Amino acid sequence: MTLIRLTDVTKRYPATTKDSDPVVAVDAVSLDIAAGEICGIIGYSGAGKSTVLRLVNALEQPTSGSVEIGGRDITTLREKELRSLRGDIGMIFQQFNLFDSRTVAGNVAYPLEVARRSRAEIKTRVAELLEFVGLAGKAGNYPEQLSGGQKQRVGIARALATSPRILLADEATSALDPDTTQEVLELLRRVNRDLGITILVITHEMDVIRTLADRVVVMEGGRVIESGAVFDVLSAP
Ligand code: ADP
Ligand code: ADP
Repeated sequence: MTLIRLTDVTKRYPATTKDSDPVVAVDAVSLDIAAGEICGIIGYSGAGKSTVLRLVNALEQPTSGSVEIGGRDITTLREKELRSLRGDIGMIFQQFNLFDSRTVAGNVAYPLEVARRSRAEIKTRVAELLEFVGLAGKAGNYPEQLSGGQKQRVGIARALATSPRILLADEATSALDPDTTQEVLELLRRVNRDLGITILVITHEMDVIRTLADRVVVMEGGRVIESGAVFDVLSAP
């Protein structure tokens, strides 16, 4: 079953100065991501990867083409439907984007507070999430007291809080050393395998794709220049 479908999507940004040209960040991209898969998008800086992610979580509207999640066009959603979509998509970031003034538990609780869950439910859910990411003992710590790997685990727990079907990862291991990267990738595999969550990762690192993804999409200049099973694409001459 296709969970995420981009059909002939183009995203053009207007010229930023009088003398510059408009930027075509994403150029006629079509992409199908099946429920339950881990799909990686790889490409150099400026290839259009982040724009694809922002189109998938409806932070951006395509200039043309359609973006569907679970068969539903998300480019025409109203405010209320958008909020529900956001609960269905978790996101993690290169710089973790944690709230420094909140404890680990407070960070993980945040999306549940926004969703107006009861205090009892939040407490149970946060404990369960911290257990899952191996940080049960760190609930009361602040981000500055954590290692990079631990911070990303908090980011993952927060992203999973509302039980999304989809997790988007934006260069999620690029700020981590190789050993920590492997630990975080292992956790992401567990998120996929044990929770059945579909994962879309964007990265410029081949190793991340090799270790994590089932399928890879190669982007360059806003276009998809190659896609397929990781083994086939990355072993091609
Ligand atoms: P990547 O994530 O692969 O580095 P991006 O999607 O961030 O690529 O960017 C693709 C292109 O679109 C780049 O040329 C970038 O400068 C441009 N771009 C991205 N966002 C904006 C924006 N908000 N306004 C103008 N240009 C943008
Ligand atoms: P990253 O690769 O981590 O996404 P970027 O520098 O590509 O970092 O983008 C950071 C932010 O700046 C994004 O929100 C993007 O939309 C915006 N941005 C990127 N390129 C441009 C640009 N040429 N003009 C205006 N905004 C841009």
